[in-house]
Amino acid sequence: MQQNSCPCGSGKPFAQCCDLYLSGKAYPNTAEALMRSRFSAFVTGNLPYLRKTWHPDTCPEVKQDDLNTRWTRLEVLRSKQGLKKSVVEFKAFFEDEEGERAMQEISLFKLHKKRWVYVGPLETWP
Ligand SMILES: [Zn+2]
Repeated sequence: MQQNSCPCGSGKPFAQCCDLYLSGKAYPNTAEALMRSRFSAFVTGNLPYLRKTWHPDTCPEVKQDDLNTRWTRLEVLRSKQGLKKSVVEFKAFFEDEEGERAMQEISLFKLHKKRWVYVGPLETWP
């Protein structure tokens, strides 16, 4: 893997991928791109970006200390883009004393003020 390749696993350099979103130069226009950029925000500890991309109704009180997980990589399993709602299923890998493990989630995204934001996890694929 290239040293400057984006944490989201797109294969593109960070500067030409999620960094555009994390730095506020652009805003992702699909839920999947938003999801990927949020993973990169977790990796880089970008708390303001996580808050900005969380639906105001469901955004928890995230603290910098909550971002200590050592995320290693992301795998997007499937995504369904709708007009106002989208879902993305992914596996996010992280490392701890026991080695590499993964969490899997089906995430719901909604358009809020014309921008995709993260709402929360779903029990099943809709
Ligand atoms: Zn990226």
